[in-house]
Amino acid sequence: MANAEFALIKQLQQALGHAGRGVRLGIGDDAAWLDTEGRTLVSSMDTLVAGRHFFADVHPADLGWKALAVNLSDLAAMGAIPRWCLLSLALPPLAEGYGQWLQDFAAGWRAMAERADVALVGGDTVATDGPLTLSITALGVVEQGVMRRDAARVGDQIWVTGTLGDAAAALDRAFVSRGLPGWGVDCSEANAWFLENRRLRPQPRLDFARAAQAAGVACALDCSDGFLADLGHILQASGLRARIDLEHLPLSSALRECTDGDLQRLLRWPLTGGDDYELIFCAPPALSLILMELAENCALPVTSVGEVLPADPHAAEDVDLYWQGQSLALPMNRGHQHVF
Ligand code: ADP
Ligand code: MG
Repeated sequence: MANAEFALIKQLQQALGHAGRGVRLGIGDDAAWLDTEGRTLVSSMDTLVAGRHFFADVHPADLGWKALAVNLSDLAAMGAIPRWCLLSLALPPLAEGYGQWLQDFAAGWRAMAERADVALVGGDTVATDGPLTLSITALGVVEQGVMRRDAARVGDQIWVTGTLGDAAAALDRAFVSRGLPGWGVDCSEANAWFLENRRLRPQPRLDFARAAQAAGVACALDCSDGFLADLGHILQASGLRARIDLEHLPLSSALRECTDGDLQRLLRWPLTGGDDYELIFCAPPALSLILMELAENCALPVTSVGEVLPADPHAAEDVDLYWQGQSLALPMNRGHQHVF
């Protein structure tokens, strides 16, 4: 086993362990030694389990991209600059070994890592009798402050980057095509491909997030478990409520074709579906113009979808949801939840 373990680590080191910025000592010693150049450090960790967060037959290149991208999305939400990552791999037995798998995984990872300029500086590699499990720690640095969940203010506009619900519709489509329970998704082949690409290759909004933070945005998070669920985290942390207009949620033209204006599909995909990896952020109206300009510079649409309201001890819910001028009850299921 030891030889196989070291061969895999060597392979990872050769494929991904290039000398990154501030890496005094990377893969190969007991721990990495990193230079933050006097800046403060931001860290986050995400675990992905086969059969839970990805299909066990996923192409390893797609897995490599997404595993890194979802971690960088957390750093983006803080307004941090990503620098380094650590990767823990728990691998079940594989008849043909992990040589080819790791090569493909590293290619997908590298494509994301090069865009974001992050270096792999360490990790752990173990065998498991359970499902393939990846755990990634992402480390970044901060130049000024960070964006936090508890920093929304009454009167702030609520914004989202990109479009919502694409990945959730693609996941339904993937379930149905595997004979698993899910909702049918009626769209062209080209649109189906677009949605699947959104599911498999999320884009952490790093550049826009840093620009927004520098422009004075204090409150953000990344939307991974469903818009309504994640907005709820901001509202709870900030002790406030919100008004959201369902028809303002930004939809891709592909998702527009699939939802076809149907309320149930709008509730399921853009409002509560997961895996968007877009940013939700709150900002005073005085910042609107500059935010739209910054977004345009990043070729990224941003959309105002509602407003932060004062706390109301008599309100049953933290969100007033409107659709075509009418008040709607919130769906029971607000987004993805783990059951323990
Ligand atoms: P130790 O026995 O000291 O814990 P390991 O044998 O687990 O060290 O790891 C040796 C080196 O390889 C360490 O620098 C570790 O960070 C790195 N490493 C192990 N697995 C991975 C991995 N999956 N990705 C990146 N680096 C790894
Ligand atoms: Mg170890």
